[in-house]
Amino acid sequence: MRKIIFICFIFFLMSCGKKIEKTELRPRPVNEMGLIATYSSSFAKLHDVPIHAVELGEGFWKTRLDFNHNRAIPSLLQLLEEHGVVDNFRRLSGRQDTARRGYRFTDSDIYKWIEAAALSLQSYNSPELKAKLDGVIDDILAAQDKDGYLNTYFMDERAKNRLTNFRDDHELYCLGHLIQAAIAFYRGSNERKLLDGAVRYADFIIERFGPGKKQCFAGHPEIEMAMVELYRTTGEKKYLDFAGYLLNDVDVANLEQPVKSSDFDYAFSGRPFFSREELVGHAVRAMYACCGATDYYLETGHPAVWNTIKKLWRDMTFYKMYITGGVGSRYSGEAFGAKYELPNDRAYTETCAAIGNLMWNWRLLNATGEAKYADLMEKILYNGFLSGVSLHGDFYFYRNPLESFGDMVRQPWYDCTCCPPNVQRTLASLPGLFYSTNSEGLWIHQYNNNELNWKLEDGTSVFLAQTTKYPWEGTIEIEILPKNKTEFSLFLRIPEWTSAASILVNGEKTPSSAVPGSYYNIRREWKKGDKVVLDLQMPVRVVYANPRLKENAASFVIQRGPVVYCIESPDHPGISIFDIFCPIDTQNPATGFKPHFDQNFLGGIVSIEIEALVTTHSLEQVPLYDFEKYFLPTRTTTMKAIPYYAWANRGASDMAVWIPWLVE
Ligand SMILES: [Zn+2]
Repeated sequence: MRKIIFICFIFFLMSCGKKIEKTELRPRPVNEMGLIATYSSSFAKLHDVPIHAVELGEGFWKTRLDFNHNRAIPSLLQLLEEHGVVDNFRRLSGRQDTARRGYRFTDSDIYKWIEAAALSLQSYNSPELKAKLDGVIDDILAAQDKDGYLNTYFMDERAKNRLTNFRDDHELYCLGHLIQAAIAFYRGSNERKLLDGAVRYADFIIERFGPGKKQCFAGHPEIEMAMVELYRTTGEKKYLDFAGYLLNDVDVANLEQPVKSSDFDYAFSGRPFFSREELVGHAVRAMYACCGATDYYLETGHPAVWNTIKKLWRDMTFYKMYITGGVGSRYSGEAFGAKYELPNDRAYTETCAAIGNLMWNWRLLNATGEAKYADLMEKILYNGFLSGVSLHGDFYFYRNPLESFGDMVRQPWYDCTCCPPNVQRTLASLPGLFYSTNSEGLWIHQYNNNELNWKLEDGTSVFLAQTTKYPWEGTIEIEILPKNKTEFSLFLRIPEWTSAASILVNGEKTPSSAVPGSYYNIRREWKKGDKVVLDLQMPVRVVYANPRLKENAASFVIQRGPVVYCIESPDHPGISIFDIFCPIDTQNPATGFKPHFDQNFLGGIVSIEIEALVTTHSLEQVPLYDFEKYFLPTRTTTMKAIPYYAWANRGASDMAVWIPWLVE
């Protein structure tokens, strides 16, 4: 019997590792490719719309993209220059006589900056930024070795150490970012120069490593999704196969340098992806690995990889994700914790991990067309991602705790500056995340003022305009102008948070009701001037945690629309926010909350006030235990909540997302 089980197991492994042949790519011009080009992906249910097809109008996201383009991207290049990141390339080509500076993975920072600038240039016409971009790319390519190798830390005096320590050296990680930067630049400009350089380096690696050759593994995943995107860009299947090798087929017993088993947990790499049972280890690494695996699934339909992806997504959303969409709760190792290990003040929640989560869910949305992935993207965008950047776009958080005691100040630069350029490339990519197409029609995932100028998959040109005060109000007007009268489906995401949604088409109510957490399909013959009005009820919500999450027992979170709120000390002078309790009417928990829009407060937000209680003397004056012995007089106070993303824009402050409640 045992023998039979063993044979079955071997067969299972063989079938998991089996190469899956892909059907022919559907060719598409490079300037029509989106952020990830899923148009040709055999297992994509939805397909990409290029960034330049979506023009944001004045509103929530345009303000942030303007800051990103005008302030943040130029100022970060200046900081990268000041810290020697570009000089590290110039010294190799003799253009600069200087020592190499920074961590071994600093090349990835300038690559991410290139990606941000290249994506931003799809939305903004800026010859000045293009010239700077060309200059940086020229400096990078001038440093490349004749054989294709390119990593400033392992050239010159450290050349003998190159490609020997995959666990620590980040060479494949930096290559992944080079490939992504090159693809973004190519898709935006139609210029191949950086892509050709990236291809030469990718080929250098693939010629030396892989099945039947020397073994390597991704000490920091990232390379997998880059390789799949390189396949989508060039049509060369060897890049897809190399991604599959890194995900599932590395012969870890024969690595150049022995690696401990625990390192494969920390890196979320090395062992077959399809053998993973839960999210462990370094959160950014795990999220990037999941992105790469989902990209691989989109091309191959690999069933075991897909089963694992679904298992890991459930593990994250049921046990290991904050209400902000942030992940990676543990300081030690910047890692995922155990089930329900989600401390608020010690939350690590690196900005890059939230970005990885966003990128993963974009791929999952492309794979399935299921609203839960777009809902989670929205949650991350307005909360766990956006908290990582200041209101003016050029000060950042590396960590994003949900509670703070006055010790967090945003910085323009971190010695490990992975997050700032990651924020920038994410903001610049945003227009590419609003829409998709499939053979049935057009899908709207995110709501904000914008105009879409694109085409259906049968080639019919379509213009669509959204007008809304989202996320502060839930009404979205959508005007549709197809070039000719055309029948197609318009899929509208009905967010999971809405209490009720109604849809009018040219003033008439749609026959069936819209279900939160799904897409509503309006199929009809559309003609110029047709108008859809989507009305999403957006009451203040009181959100409780699963009691297994003991950290948040007897606390609640205020949420309105997609926005998670917090309370912050500047809004509560003279008292500690940690002495505030909020009476909750259990029959009607949202009673008493007063939302108010103020254009001149924190960049224009809806703040929410409620009459709450504050202890007359601080709780710090009472011992830890036998609390029931103490009578604590209270008085009423106005508690003011602001969007979590807007905290720490008024200097160091106390902040809390979870608020203690009292039953009335
Ligand atoms: Zn980071």
